[in-house]
Amino acid sequence: MAQRVAPDGANKKTSRVRVAVRLRPYMGKQDEKDEGPCVRGLDSQNLEIINWRNAMETVKYHFDVFHGEQTTQQEVFLSSVKPILPHILGGQNASVFAYGPTGAGKTHTMLGSSEQPGVIPRAVREVFNLVKAKDEEEGWDYSIGMSYLEIYNEKVLDLLSPGSQDLPIREDKDKNILIPGLTHTTISSFSDFDKHFIPASLNRTTASTKLNHRSSRSHAILLIKVVRTLHAFPYRQQTGKLYLVDLAGSEDNRRTGNKGIRLKESGAINLSLFTLSKVVDSLNSGTAIRVPYRDSKLTRLLQDSLGGSAHSVMITNIAPEYKYYFDTFSALNFAAKSKLIVNKPFTQETVAVPVLPVKRARENHEVGGSGTEPHKKKQKEEKKIEEDGSSPSAHFDRLAEPSVMDRLIALEKLMMSCQDKNRLDMLKDVAQSRKEIQELKERQREFESKALLLSRLAGDKVNVKQDPVFKNSTAPLQRKQTSATKPNKQQAVVQPLQVSSQPLQQLANIKPSVCIKKKLSDHIELPDGKENAVESGWESQLNTSLLEQLRQKILQILNTGSLKELKGLQQIGDKKAKLILGWREINGHFTKLEDLVKVEGMTDKRFSSFMKANILSAMGK
Ligand code: ADP
Ligand code: MG
Repeated sequence: MAQRVAPDGANKKTSRVRVAVRLRPYMGKQDEKDEGPCVRGLDSQNLEIINWRNAMETVKYHFDVFHGEQTTQQEVFLSSVKPILPHILGGQNASVFAYGPTGAGKTHTMLGSSEQPGVIPRAVREVFNLVKAKDEEEGWDYSIGMSYLEIYNEKVLDLLSPGSQDLPIREDKDKNILIPGLTHTTISSFSDFDKHFIPASLNRTTASTKLNHRSSRSHAILLIKVVRTLHAFPYRQQTGKLYLVDLAGSEDNRRTGNKGIRLKESGAINLSLFTLSKVVDSLNSGTAIRVPYRDSKLTRLLQDSLGGSAHSVMITNIAPEYKYYFDTFSALNFAAKSKLIVNKPFTQETVAVPVLPVKRARENHEVGGSGTEPHKKKQKEEKKIEEDGSSPSAHFDRLAEPSVMDRLIALEKLMMSCQDKNRLDMLKDVAQSRKEIQELKERQREFESKALLLSRLAGDKVNVKQDPVFKNSTAPLQRKQTSATKPNKQQAVVQPLQVSSQPLQQLANIKPSVCIKKKLSDHIELPDGKENAVESGWESQLNTSLLEQLRQKILQILNTGSLKELKGLQQIGDKKAKLILGWREINGHFTKLEDLVKVEGMTDKRFSSFMKANILSAMGK
């Protein structure tokens, strides 16, 4: 086996992963409202993104290199990749990754197009050039070979031999990582490389259309191996490996339609990507005793080419549009070890806004603001600006939903673990308080709904003969209550009073005898004091907004719950919980509860019984 060369003292040394960020050009569609960018470069190492907590601030990041929108493929290659290539010929390893959300430019960076070739063709060409130049020197023979593989769902698949099974990853006695059975083809020229690479890439693309966005969820890994052998005795051999990796999209695949997803779990959707972030983190912090290479296939495979004596570059691709905001923010936080909040507006237009009120708005928010409505007060103050659409906060409406906010807070907490200790504790407290406030609010909403339901039951008993026309009129009732001119959430729990002031026709016609069963009756006393069998259509008898809340809660557990949390659901035992976890790993997330029937063994009938049991049980809590 050819030896890998470690420079002097490299055994103990752990190299940092150099981090470059590449911002692709703005690509707003013609039919879309032109919102402008939410992130921009400052110079060759710094960039800023609007702060989600306060649209009048930006968050500034520092990287080894920043490539702006105008940066060409050639420039990216020259500054971030070319300098590490000579090491391969000297028997050392290297890796280049493109990281970032789907649509941000990873494939453009790595592969590019025939008009704008990316890192892969340029690097391969350069390796041939370097070998050619070396060939003229005395002493060594060089041979270049390639492998091309994909890691999908923690399976290692050979792209040069389609149809292959999951391949094992092994380590030899010299700590070189090997994949027995992986096709390794010797290539004699760049066109030879193309001949093998293009059809293999096409294989991957075809598979991706069949397998539902597979390409955005798999890691494509090209390995270029350079072996050099000494002409004369003792015929020493050295091997240098170059991994060129187009990573899976870093976005949270389970995001759509889900609420309250926790960052840790969203990372686990792609175990390899999640572990890569931990590995890069521990390499770059320089303090880790154990780098968790073995925790995923990707990092295990790259173990000898990432950290140690290897040379690694991560190109974090980001997109400037607002719709990528969350993914950009988390990609930047993954890539950066430091950030700085700068009290300055992002857009030129907002410069005119007086600084003081804005700052006050933030302080208010920090002290007592809700984590879910960070811009409320500010929105008032900036109303005029927002009306003409020039304020950045206008773009944040979609981020104001609790799930996204929760995740941003979680992300920030995660980031805080890398920052100055005092500040860390303080920020932790703030984030925690916000979360608690948010949870309290949610609890309160639940109570409100329950109280409403109770009062409706009471009203119903008195007015059993009322016309059931307004069966689903509960939502307006609630909305009215929350949008009252002087909302006071603390008082809102006093439901019966408010409800009784509504016209009777607006009360839902809920027959106590059919709307509540066993578990619920443990907690809520039925007006007629009876426990009745639940009949079909039981859902329609419940308060629709409460029902929706409960459904969302169950959906959230299905999507983000641990094994234990899943087993906490009614009718979900160990086996089913594992099947759900497995389904999640393969398919990402349940967009709606009904998707549960796609899980093995879950029939329509079981599903409706599951729903009934869980909704009623949740109402009882
Ligand atoms: P990803 O692989 O991260 O999902 P792509 O590389 O497919 O993203 O990029 C999405 C789109 O943006 C493609 O149409 C691509 O050509 C374009 N694009 C990405 N980066 C750039 C860039 N730097 N310059 C011009 N177009 C780009
Ligand atoms: Mg891609």
